Amino acid sequence: MPTDKLLFGHRQFKKKFEAEREVFVQLAREGQDPKVLWIGCSDSRVIPDQIAGTDPGDLFTIRNIANIVPFSGMPGNAVGAVIEFAVLRLKVPHIVVCGHTECGGIKALRSGVDASREPHIAAWLELARPALERVEAAGRVALHGWLYDLHTGALSSFDRISGRWDTLAVPE
Ligand SMILES: [Zn+2]
Repeated sequence: MPTDKLLFGHRQFKKKFEAEREVFVQLAREGQDPKVLWIGCSDSRVIPDQIAGTDPGDLFTIRNIANIVPFSGMPGNAVGAVIEFAVLRLKVPHIVVCGHTECGGIKALRSGVDASREPHIAAWLELARPALERVEAAGRVALHGWLYDLHTGALSSFDRISGRWDTLAVPE
C-alpha cells in the first residue's frame, strides 16, 4: 500500500528530526532564510532536495508540470506569487529553474494535448509557448537554467555562448 510507505518514511524522518532537533527548532523559532528559489517540475523522479543535497530551510520551492513560469498578470498565477514571496519578502538572491530530461510535460507540449479531454493540462502547457521571449533580470537576482538528467543523475547548466548544456562542476 503506497500510504504505508509514506508512514514508514515519516517514521524514519521522525528519527532524523529527533537526532537533529536543534536545527528544526531553530528553523521554527527564527523562521526561514532560504538563499535559493527552486522552480522545478512536478515529476516524481526529480526531487530538488535529493538532487541538490539540501536541508530544511535551504530551498524555497515550487514545482509544476514542466517547471513553467507563466507570464506576469495571469490570474491565479501561483508561480508568480511564489516568486514575489521569495524575492520581495524572503530576499532570496538566486533563482534556479531546473528542467529535466524525459519531461512528460514538454513531450506533451510538443506532441499536442487534446484540450477537450484534458483542458487544464492543455491550457497550462500553452503557457510555455512564449518561453522563447527573453526574461530580463532585475540585476539583483541571478537566474540559473539547470537541467537534471534522469539517466545519469547529473546537473547541467545552459551556456548561452556555446548554446549547449554543460555538466555543472561539483565542488569537492
Ligand atoms: Zn517534467
